[in-house]
Amino acid sequence: MSAAAMRTVDSGSSGIAQAGMRLAGPNVDTTHGPILYLDGITVAFDGFKALNDLSLTIDDGELRCIIGPNGAGKTTMMDVITGKTRPDAGTAFFGQTIDLSQLTEAEIAHAGIGRKFQKPTVFERHSVFENLELAMKADKRVRATIDARPSRAELDRIVEVLVLIHLAAEGDRLAGSLSHGQKQWLEIGMLLMQEPRLLLLDEPVAGMTDEETMRTAELCMSLAGQHSVVVVEHDMDFIARIARTVTVLHEGSVLAEGPMDVVQADPRVIEVYLGR
Ligand code: ADP
Ligand code: MG
Repeated sequence: MSAAAMRTVDSGSSGIAQAGMRLAGPNVDTTHGPILYLDGITVAFDGFKALNDLSLTIDDGELRCIIGPNGAGKTTMMDVITGKTRPDAGTAFFGQTIDLSQLTEAEIAHAGIGRKFQKPTVFERHSVFENLELAMKADKRVRATIDARPSRAELDRIVEVLVLIHLAAEGDRLAGSLSHGQKQWLEIGMLLMQEPRLLLLDEPVAGMTDEETMRTAELCMSLAGQHSVVVVEHDMDFIARIARTVTVLHEGSVLAEGPMDVVQADPRVIEVYLGR
C-alpha cells in the first residue's frame, strides 16, 4: 500500500477511535497468519555482515523471544524492521501487503510498529497521566487538535493503560520521580497509546530489580494476543518465564528456533550462547 493510501485509511479510522472502539491500527493484512516477514535480510557495515541472510516470521498476536550473544545482530534486526537501517538485500513485509522498504521510519511507526529502546525517554517534568495523554496526542490518527481536552473514550483508554503498566496509583506523580523500572513501564504505556500492532522491546528488563523483572514478564504476557510482541533479552530467568517460541540469533542469522526447552538443549545453542 502506498503512503498516501495509508494516510487515507488512517483519517478514516480516527472516528472509530473517538467512538471508543479498540483501534486495530491501519490495514495490516494478516489473513495468512504472520504479521511480520523478514526474508533473506543482509546488512553489511564496511563488508562485515551484521545480518546475514536472516529469515524470520512472526505470527499475529504472538510473543516471540529473541536471544543470542552480543553482536549477533538483534538490535540491527530491530533497526531494519523500523526503517532505521536499510538492508543491502532481502525483503521485510508488515502483514501481506506493506513493504517496509517503501516507508520512512515515521510511516512505519504510523503503520503500527512501536519500538522501545533500552533507555527510557519519558517527559520527566510531566505527570505519568500527562505522559500517556501526550503520547496519545502525538498520534494524529486519534486527535487532530492538541488543545482539546481528552474525550471520555480517551480517558478510559489512559486508565486502562495505567492499570496494564502497574502505574494506576501513580498517575499524578512526576515521571521524573519514578523508579527506573516504572519509567520503562511508562514508556511501554506511551507506545501502547498509539495502538501498535507490533511491539519491539529491546532488553526491557535491563537494570530492573527481580520484582520489576517479574512484573514486566506479566506485562509482556498480557500484551500478547492483543498485540504481537518481539522481545530481545539476555535475562534467561525472564525469558524462561515468558517464552513460547524462542529464536536464537548468531552471526546475523537464525541458529535455532522453537520451544524454550528444545532450544536450551540444542548443542549449537549451548556452544555459542548458553554454555558461557
Ligand atoms: P546485538 O544487538 O545482537 O548485540 P547488534 O545488532 O547491535 O548486535 O550488532 C551486530 C554487529 O553489527 C556487531 O558486530 C556490531 O558491532 C555491528 N554494528 C551494529 N551497528 C553498526 C554500525 N552502525 N556500524 C558498524 N557496525 C555496526
Ligand atoms: Mg543489542
